[in-house]
Amino acid sequence: GVRVRFCPSPTGNPHVGLVRTALFNWAFARHHQGTLVFRIEDTDAARDSEESYRMLLDSLRWLGLDWDEGPEVGGPHAPYRQSERMDVYADVARRLKEAGHAYDCYCTNEELEERRAEARAAGRASGYDGRCRTLTPEQVAAYRAEGRASIVRFRMPDRTITFTDLVRGELTFTPENVPDFGIVRASGAPLYTLVNPVDDALMGITHVLRGEDLLSSTPRQIALYDALIELGVAQAVPQFGHLPYVMGEGNKKLSKRDPESSLNLYRERGFLPEGLLNYLSLLGWSYSADQDVFTVAEMVERFDITGVNANPARFDLKKAEAINADHIRRLDEKAFAQACEPWLRAPFAPWRPEDFDEAAWQAIAPHAQTRLTVLSDITANVDFLFLAEPVDDEASWAKAMKEGSADLLRTAREKLEAADWSSPEALKEAVLAAGEAHGLKLGKAQAPVRVAVTGRTVGLPLFESLQVLGRDRTLARIGAALA
Ligand code: GLU
Repeated sequence: GVRVRFCPSPTGNPHVGLVRTALFNWAFARHHQGTLVFRIEDTDAARDSEESYRMLLDSLRWLGLDWDEGPEVGGPHAPYRQSERMDVYADVARRLKEAGHAYDCYCTNEELEERRAEARAAGRASGYDGRCRTLTPEQVAAYRAEGRASIVRFRMPDRTITFTDLVRGELTFTPENVPDFGIVRASGAPLYTLVNPVDDALMGITHVLRGEDLLSSTPRQIALYDALIELGVAQAVPQFGHLPYVMGEGNKKLSKRDPESSLNLYRERGFLPEGLLNYLSLLGWSYSADQDVFTVAEMVERFDITGVNANPARFDLKKAEAINADHIRRLDEKAFAQACEPWLRAPFAPWRPEDFDEAAWQAIAPHAQTRLTVLSDITANVDFLFLAEPVDDEASWAKAMKEGSADLLRTAREKLEAADWSSPEALKEAVLAAGEAHGLKLGKAQAPVRVAVTGRTVGLPLFESLQVLGRDRTLARIGAALA
């Protein structure tokens, strides 16, 4: 069966690129009824942090992505944290050396740098030149006597490596472009170049789906895999699929340091997990030519890695929001009200907790549901209900209050006072009549009323809003605006 893996290093905040990779692996596994292995690549103690690890787990859980083997669920290949598997890598490194696939390299960084510069100057490939490939025991003894440290280097076979990438088709790497590479540091710490393919092999990974930035490591991993097969550690080389870069503003690669790549940002702004997953799936893939809003289940049903586009994908916030808005509309009323909950409380809500009115919220919620692009917008849309006074926004006042607005408001107050408050329709009639009395169409008549009552020029349907706010408060606010 299909076995894929998601194997992040726990550094920094969870970001868009990382989650897209997780999502594609997850969808591929679920589509093929395969297994998703979640492995933590935390062998770089200097960069990895427990906090990043926690945030990552939390983000994946929030998104609703699950895994079949890995942290918190266990599995037959435990442990799934590389920091707990160091003895495995030491053993494989030793066996690779014994079999002649790797060797100790004593070159110092200064020497390497010097020779690289020479090679570049001579127009030659500047990768490792193989100096320590064939050291005699005497040379080794001399280096040791000098007190030199050694790293372990993998010996690349002298052959062209070709593989068929599931996204990019056939790719070829010639030996001069893939020099011998380090797999264990002088300190004895194993490197990504070793631990990643070793674990993929031991965990029986069949498909490696990951970002394009890792493409250059693939020929090395294939060569290492071949050696592992020879040692009996691996069964077969997995298939590879490299997901396209994600481009941000100005057509620059979206970096994990860009604020708009932070997953937490989308969560705090009130993206729904389904909306965000929907959008992220479009970064390199498409559901169909004429439909870009779909559920996660629909995505899983159609997901096809060979349908992923190799061209860079553009991150488009407007589109992400539009898709999220669609998912908000799709919620049933109860789920919508529930989803808004966090933004109706501290620290997001600007009103005092005791001024929150559950009945008013329930009454207004259905009108808000059709208006929001992100859930955090709910606060500004309903604050007029829970604040003692409407927000004081000069720009809105300046925009809505024109000459004659006071007269209009006076008439509107009279008409509203006399109106039947049991239906928004009657309130609309009242404002319409006030407008007519001053030669104003409904839209123009409505604007000062809205600002007087809500403090804003845009918002939820006005007459429903007035009704929920209630007669007394509405009239008092119009009165205050006239004062
Ligand atoms: N730990 C690696 C990373 O986060 C995994 C890369 C891979 O999928 O091979 O970049």
